[in-house]
Amino acid sequence: MMLELRPTCEHCNKPLPPDSPEARICSYECTFCAACVENVLHDVCPNCGGGFVPRPIRPAQAWRPGLSLTDRPASTERHASPYPSDEIAAFSARLQGVPPEKR
Ligand SMILES: [Zn+2]
Ligand SMILES: [Zn+2]
Repeated sequence: MMLELRPTCEHCNKPLPPDSPEARICSYECTFCAACVENVLHDVCPNCGGGFVPRPIRPAQAWRPGLSLTDRPASTERHASPYPSDEIAAFSARLQGVPPEKR
């Protein structure tokens, strides 16, 4: 098992290449851009209700054998959140006042 580096924001579809400092993930690897997390989701994952952290950047070169982006490439499978924008807004409004560690 390793972290799935998903290719795009699941809300606005912005490309999030593996070296992007803008990628944010929840504990289930749901992946969004920093702008969506801040301005749309308000640190509430629309899929699971959890909070977000910056996605770690996998080293491009193998500093240890077999462990690099070349050996373990990023995912190319796009995911899209199944919830419409108004539902996401309501869900986020319900949970954003509660810190992730209390949800
Ligand atoms: Zn986005
Ligand atoms: Zn999630």
